[in-house]
Amino acid sequence: MPRVYNFSAGPSCLPEEVLKECAQEMLDCNGTGQSVMEMSHRSAAFEPIIAHAEQQVRKLMNVPDNYKVLFLQGGGSTQFAMVAQNLAIHSGKAAYIQTGVWAKKAAAEAKKLGVQVDIIASSEDKNYSYIPRVEKIAGGYDYAYICFNNTIMGTHYEYIPDTGSIPLVADISSCVLSEELDVSKFGLLFAGAQKNLAPAGVTLVIIREDLITETPRAGTPTMMCYKTHADNGSMYNTPPCYTIYVLGKVLDWIERNGGAAGMHRRNVEKAKLLYGYLDSSEFYHATAEAGSRSLMNVTFLTKYSDGAKDEAGLAKEKAVNAQFVKQAEAAGLVNLKGHRLVGGMRASIYNAMPIEGVKALVEFMKQFAAENA
Ligand SMILES: *Cc1c(COP(=O)(O)O)cnc(C)c1O
Repeated sequence: MPRVYNFSAGPSCLPEEVLKECAQEMLDCNGTGQSVMEMSHRSAAFEPIIAHAEQQVRKLMNVPDNYKVLFLQGGGSTQFAMVAQNLAIHSGKAAYIQTGVWAKKAAAEAKKLGVQVDIIASSEDKNYSYIPRVEKIAGGYDYAYICFNNTIMGTHYEYIPDTGSIPLVADISSCVLSEELDVSKFGLLFAGAQKNLAPAGVTLVIIREDLITETPRAGTPTMMCYKTHADNGSMYNTPPCYTIYVLGKVLDWIERNGGAAGMHRRNVEKAKLLYGYLDSSEFYHATAEAGSRSLMNVTFLTKYSDGAKDEAGLAKEKAVNAQFVKQAEAAGLVNLKGHRLVGGMRASIYNAMPIEGVKALVEFMKQFAAENA
């Protein structure tokens, strides 16, 4: 079976070069006669692997010296709780901007832990198809929280809210290293690896040192304290060794391809091609508003999703979407089904998706539109 173009939102495609390197080193990594999967995390063989991954994160993201880089487990979803437990410790109040499913889940988790959550802006009025403009965040908040790229809704912030002295926390799970980002504007950044960095299993956390507290909210388990992991170089317990190893290789690949700026150039080119076609088409349209569009997750509907929704219309839309996904798969373009909250299709075009994949998708879309107009 030849390799397909995989548009999955996550876990998602990885650079082929990286997969080949991993395969080559599967039985013998760096002359150790072992696979990384088999190494003790405390061994001399593994130490340089985790050190390299951290060093590459620092270099490629230009992480200032007063930030710690942590490799944790539990995915982005565990960070929803960890952020609240470790940061909501002075006023016990936090500000959330609601831009979709992931931001909502994060706010709900903080609430569950007894944090006073204020939703200071929301785009719920238009099914989260845009990013609200928040000029200045003030008030006695312990932190302000945003989801920088909304994987499900296909939206992305084109600005960083000004939070003054309030630490800004951002979930960058689906846009990490897709563009340059000024880390110093944030108190804490986190990203589950399985969208743009590595296979599932590791969560990257970048946290300003003054936010690493010894006194998190009462009852916070040891494993949920940033301090535990910061004090132990992410080795308080067994880290996800193999995933960290692949992460290091993906970061090397990013560096070889121009770093964050190089990724951004490639991603803009890919997204332009796809949005450009969507905007010119009578058959499809993008669901995210211009000015809020994600470079990573492109959500779109067909013309059958427009207008009044009677039962016949809905059935037609469902049938056309299902047909699209099925025919695309047969053409080697997989995982294009949209999330049920948006409907239609979603093409995730992360760093590792080559421009050829996007070109093939647009060609397929043109043909499908001609056949179904
Ligand atoms: C996928 C995703 C999550 C959830 O990540 P898990 O690692 O599955 O917990 C959170 N936030 C965003 C923006 C995501 O894309």
